[in-house]
Amino acid sequence: MVHEWALAEGVCRYVTNVAGGRRLKKVKIALGELQSVDEEVLKFALTELLKAQGFEIGEGLIELVVKHAVMQCRRCGHLWSLGEAGLSEEEREAVHFIPEVIRAYTSCPKCNSRDFEVVEGRGVEILEVSLE
Ligand SMILES: [Zn+2]
Repeated sequence: MVHEWALAEGVCRYVTNVAGGRRLKKVKIALGELQSVDEEVLKFALTELLKAQGFEIGEGLIELVVKHAVMQCRRCGHLWSLGEAGLSEEEREAVHFIPEVIRAYTSCPKCNSRDFEVVEGRGVEILEVSLE
């Protein structure tokens, strides 16, 4: 919970700076699949914080998209997704809390190497801030 509010606080600060008093039309945020962020809580927190800054928040103003995790093998260059990794529900949950543990649960589906990089699906990104 605290996590989402802290995140919303950062986004709100950024949006307020960028807007410089103009009207807000859209805020689009990408959430990494490996980030344990509750979308509903984040949306709620961001709405409340932006309202407190005097922004009018209409339906659909805040858009959240999930960026799927992509891993790349350092040995053979193969790219794969979390879906392909075939994790159980429990393993997925662990990975969401601590993205680093993904190394313990998956290896390259092609060459079986555990030497891979997470190239996408981490962190939070502000994709778009539209103003009037
Ligand atoms: Zn490989």
